Amino acid sequence: MTTLQQIELRCPICDTRFKSQQVISTNSFGGKRTDFHERAAGTQPLPYLIHMCNRCGYSGAERDFTEDADVSPVLKEHVWSELAPALSAVAISGSEKYEAAAKVAEWQGLDTRHVADLLLRAAWCCVDENDVEAERFYRRKSAWKFEEALSSYDGVVREERAVLTYLVGELWRRAGDDRQSHDWFNRVVSEIADPGSQQWILDAARQQRDCPREWFG
Ligand SMILES: [Zn+2]
Repeated sequence: MTTLQQIELRCPICDTRFKSQQVISTNSFGGKRTDFHERAAGTQPLPYLIHMCNRCGYSGAERDFTEDADVSPVLKEHVWSELAPALSAVAISGSEKYEAAAKVAEWQGLDTRHVADLLLRAAWCCVDENDVEAERFYRRKSAWKFEEALSSYDGVVREERAVLTYLVGELWRRAGDDRQSHDWFNRVVSEIADPGSQQWILDAARQQRDCPREWFG
């Protein structure tokens, strides 16, 4: 079971205090999809791991609302000009919060891989929001960001290149682009850093290329 608790946060951009929900405990009894989307039994915790200020639209994890938040004048400007106008009166969905958090992370100059991860989570939220179009949109955006991280000199450590290469293949597969998906699955073999511990990634890539499954295990 997932347990939530109400917390009060202070927005580092506009100083507004607002209430949000925080995850106290969760579980992974719902299994794991082949894009590493771990499912809980009961309420899914994902939408509650990111918070959004309802006055300016600034979004992030709980630590992004503490003294440690990296708030530059440039970030403030971006938030007011791009996130604030897009705020709607209706309830904000998990995917919207993750998309906003991905923008904030980019404006903060955080690494590409982190941005890609937030976009991946936006896609996962869309699964529960039953929004297939938005899910594919975020899967493509996330795939492009992971590709960018993989192509930069120090974007991804060697031990993680194979698994992220697999993930890009799986994102394209789930976005409905089989050609790109096959290309990426075929690249996994050349990214293996340790054949002993990474054989499962190679197996998963072959599996998803030739006879895809939706769930691990
Ligand atoms: Zn704010």
